[in-house]
Amino acid sequence: MLCANIAVNGEGRLTFAGQDTTLLAQKFGTPLYLLDEDRIRENCRAYTQAFSRLFPAGSKVLYASKANAFRRIYGIVQEEGLGVDVVSGGEIYTAKAAGFDLKNAYFHGNNKTDDEICLAMDCGVGTFVVDGEDELSAVAAEAARRGIRQKILLRITPGIDPHTYEAVATGKVDSKFGVAIETGQAAELTKAALALPSVELYGFHCHVGSQVFGEDVFERGVAVMLEFMAEMREKLGFTAAALDLGGGFGVRYDEGDPLLDVGRKLESVSAVLHETCARLGYPVPAFLMEPGRAIVADAGLTLYTVGSVERITGYKNYVSVDGGMTDNPRYALYGALHTVLPAGKMNEARLLRCDVVGKCCESGDVIRPAADLPESTSRGDLLAVCTTGAYNYSMASNYNRVPRPPIVLLSGGRATLAVRRETPEDLIQFDQ
Ligand SMILES: *Cc1c(COP(=O)(O)O)cnc(C)c1O
Repeated sequence: MLCANIAVNGEGRLTFAGQDTTLLAQKFGTPLYLLDEDRIRENCRAYTQAFSRLFPAGSKVLYASKANAFRRIYGIVQEEGLGVDVVSGGEIYTAKAAGFDLKNAYFHGNNKTDDEICLAMDCGVGTFVVDGEDELSAVAAEAARRGIRQKILLRITPGIDPHTYEAVATGKVDSKFGVAIETGQAAELTKAALALPSVELYGFHCHVGSQVFGEDVFERGVAVMLEFMAEMREKLGFTAAALDLGGGFGVRYDEGDPLLDVGRKLESVSAVLHETCARLGYPVPAFLMEPGRAIVADAGLTLYTVGSVERITGYKNYVSVDGGMTDNPRYALYGALHTVLPAGKMNEARLLRCDVVGKCCESGDVIRPAADLPESTSRGDLLAVCTTGAYNYSMASNYNRVPRPPIVLLSGGRATLAVRRETPEDLIQFDQ
């Protein structure tokens, strides 16, 4: 199976986190986001345990909360000892409402508005990840006005192509994020930050991309960043206390995808960190990473009910479900392939090759092209789409005025509603 939390019971029905998906669908309705809380905690621990073994004091794992943000999840990752990466006023507000200690929050984004900068300072967000010259001035001015010294990291583009989808490759020189080492702008920004008394430069950040499996992408990232840091020490006399390598570890969406061992990968990254620091005579900085997908993706599974099944003889078959790009836009955005399973008929042969599509008025509303389902698939059947914990709910929309599904958290055999289903009244609540 794709992940250890997916299995089949004696009645040939799919179980997720040990619970019968058919019963969950009956209780909560479809479409339905399930999130395996125990798996989220295991994924957090894979990082935190490796971090305490491999990196110096002050190192920290931050959950990139854009992957899936709702109140309860901030509490879960906080209990596991993680900090968070937030990218908007909305995420800051949600984290605060969850009782998250925002000292442990890192505020990202390539265009933080003045209002968001103020909100973040009001809430005591610990660290700003400053994206460029213009933002540095804005953050420094607001901090000066308040008479505080705001801790910051500078976001640098190391010029590494992670060979992933273009839309999630963020570390290249021409990226909209951060400032490049290659153009000299990263050095200029460092110099500017050091000259401002209202900011405290803590270190540097980079994020090369998402869903990355490349052999040595992260190792090269560490080496390039350390070379840059050594150069800043030589030129400006500044020694950074922290290096934040961003997120991006790839996860398995398909049986054919590789399985990335987080502990082993972090050992290799740690080795490069320590070797490069030794070679450059640089004190080993506190090390930060910001996994999003790797924490929540395989903790998620979406249940749908099949509606119409259309067979275009000699061409193609379509199986339509009661959700679509509104709750899972990942195929439409990136061509991402999720595994689809016939949740109620797991023991039947899968001989119907079909596109699983949503109910939206868009031909691009595809959940999974060329899926294999039982020949008997028909209206009322339950389908499960796997690995939907990341970038599904957080990217969901109300296109076609489709209400968003609820999120049910599964833990220790219990199922609790974490986000309720939207209603038609919710859809018109802002209409004047
Ligand atoms: C998106 C993003 C992450 C998380 O990426 P994942 O692929 O979900 O791990 C971390 N840091 C930054 C700055 C990001 O933009």
